[in-house]
Amino acid sequence: MIAYLERFVHGNDVESRQADDEEDCSSLCDALDLQGSIDCVATGLAGKDFGGVYSFKPLAFVKPANSDDVARVVKAALQSSNLTVAARGNGHSINGQAMADRGLVMDMRAMEDHFQVVWINGTPYADVSGGALWEDVLKRCVLGFRLAPRSWTDYLSLTVGGTLSNAGVSGQAFRYGPQTSNVAELEVVTGKGDIIVCSETQNPQLFFAALGGLGQFGIITRARVALQPAPDKLRWIRVVYAEFEEFSRDAELLVTLQESDSFDYLEGFVFVNSDDPSNGWPSVPLDPQQAPFDPSHIPATAGSVLYCLEVALHYRNTDHPSALDVVVNRLLGRLGFLPHLKFEMDLNYVEFLLRVKHQEEQAKASGVWDAPHPWLNLFVSKSDIADFDCHVFKKILKGGVGGPMLIYPLTRSMWDTRTSMVVPKDEIFYIVALLRFTAYPKGPSVEKMVAQNQEIIKCCVNKGFDFKLYLPHYSSQEEWKAHFGNQWARFVERKASFDPLAILAPGQKIFSRIR
Ligand code: FAD
Repeated sequence: MIAYLERFVHGNDVESRQADDEEDCSSLCDALDLQGSIDCVATGLAGKDFGGVYSFKPLAFVKPANSDDVARVVKAALQSSNLTVAARGNGHSINGQAMADRGLVMDMRAMEDHFQVVWINGTPYADVSGGALWEDVLKRCVLGFRLAPRSWTDYLSLTVGGTLSNAGVSGQAFRYGPQTSNVAELEVVTGKGDIIVCSETQNPQLFFAALGGLGQFGIITRARVALQPAPDKLRWIRVVYAEFEEFSRDAELLVTLQESDSFDYLEGFVFVNSDDPSNGWPSVPLDPQQAPFDPSHIPATAGSVLYCLEVALHYRNTDHPSALDVVVNRLLGRLGFLPHLKFEMDLNYVEFLLRVKHQEEQAKASGVWDAPHPWLNLFVSKSDIADFDCHVFKKILKGGVGGPMLIYPLTRSMWDTRTSMVVPKDEIFYIVALLRFTAYPKGPSVEKMVAQNQEIIKCCVNKGFDFKLYLPHYSSQEEWKAHFGNQWARFVERKASFDPLAILAPGQKIFSRIR
């Protein structure tokens, strides 16, 4: 087997290398004795991601059938002198994080379907495959058991292993923490090729390393995700603010109220004070059947951008409508949004969670889904968020980004500091997500968008803001060191323990393969 692998790595010129690769592919497959398959020709997908900025061709696209296959591939790479292995979830990274330049990319979605609901000490959990899409987890939990995970992402065509390797953040995170705070057990294939079940009490070092670990310590092949009873419906509400101070005060109030006394979901976004269809007033109303956004209600003192707070309250079909109205009105009564700029609709819970899927269909039809997306995600401490608004939203981004500019508060105490993620210091910090959806030549070029992202990061550094990149991307280890700060030593130790030859997730560009 080693001979086959060496031939993969050391082929001479491009043409002969390609011929060797193709010829040896089936032999490699036989040597590895996988229950799944290896494709050395149709590797196109494995060299692409949603960001559309980077592209690296792998040696092979492996479709593992189960954890044993994953372990065999990792062990084969260990025996070679320089092969790397990247788990690919659904390739929704922005900067090539799931790619392996002339390495082995593993299609985690190919793994055998695994789904089981288990009850432990009265709490239900779903045992799901690391390559499962969250949208499938949702449907199976709700339709089969009237249960649902507690913490989500906005868009659900992402894999369980992919989001757990980052954090997984949406409008429920203020209450339950990110998805990484809602997992009781993992099965992980380490960079040594060992298949290990881990939890807070069993192999805890690996468990916490893998959560938010950017794929550096192991490949998540199964996760046990905490569930709760699924509501039938929810009321979805958007309210508008002219002043950032009022928007943030209300958002922070709602995320710090007792669970029984607040909304079940909270997000927010900045939009441009204009009639621009994707950046401005028309991006706010929830239902096209409803009255459009009436700009006459915006005060004359308003600036270049406005703010929208988005909340939702769960309910059951058996709940009395007037009881729901009472709760909603009591909560909204505490807020200082602009009167008359309130939009609401009632929606089935599953439809709400799949809301971005509908936008995906529209964006695919117009071509912007498949265009490059140099997105930028940051976490910014509460103490710096007003200054961030002044310098970034009101100045650099006053014309919008051609898509949503999310901003909403999260609570640090819901993030487990034993995991590998790093977040800002304040108990309340904001997620800022600049979700660019423009296709050149209609919008700016990729280079211009990337340059604007860099300008924003530079502004945060120069002003001394307490911030961290979410879904981080750096090109040098010095930058990674600065990103992790005093957690860098722990990250390096974890790497030495679980992936000593730096085989895994080379696309993150944190460590180089040790030969
Ligand atoms: P990939 O992009 O395929 O992989 C991401 C990284 O994880 C890679 O380094 C890969 O090697 C590694 N990896 C993948 N699978 C595994 C595994 N099983 N075990 C170990 N490592 C693995 N994020 C949020 O938090 N909240 C959101 O609301 C949100 N919305 C999004 C909406 C869209 C349209 C898009 C494109 C992305 C969104 N994201 C969001 C970001 C998303 O969480 C990341 O892209 C994440 O990487 C998951 O995507 P994926 O499953 O396709 O993983």
